[in-house]
Amino acid sequence: METCSLKSSLKIFVDVFHKYSKISGNLDALNRREMKQLLNKEMPHFIKNSKDLKDVQSLFEELDTNLDSDIDFKEFAVMIARVVMETHEKMHENAPPGKHHGPGLEGPH
Ligand SMILES: [Zn+2]
Repeated sequence: METCSLKSSLKIFVDVFHKYSKISGNLDALNRREMKQLLNKEMPHFIKNSKDLKDVQSLFEELDTNLDSDIDFKEFAVMIARVVMETHEKMHENAPPGKHHGPGLEGPH
């Protein structure tokens, strides 16, 4: 079982994106409502613990770089990259003495 491979993680990004993008409107992009649902259902702790993702409204404006009022997969991938980087930073910040990593943004701590 590839439960923790990069390959399966990349597929999950695509699957999660489409789980919400296909709800309404452009089936290959997230509108505001779909984006909000994705963030609240898939990553509530990340939103709560992240300084970068706190304000969903301004996050949406920021990510929508082509200004079409939808988040396409390319724009979504930029957000994922930002989340991964902030999570990794947090893991270092939260590392207990003698350890390389502590908890990231994924849960309450
Ligand atoms: Zn590290």
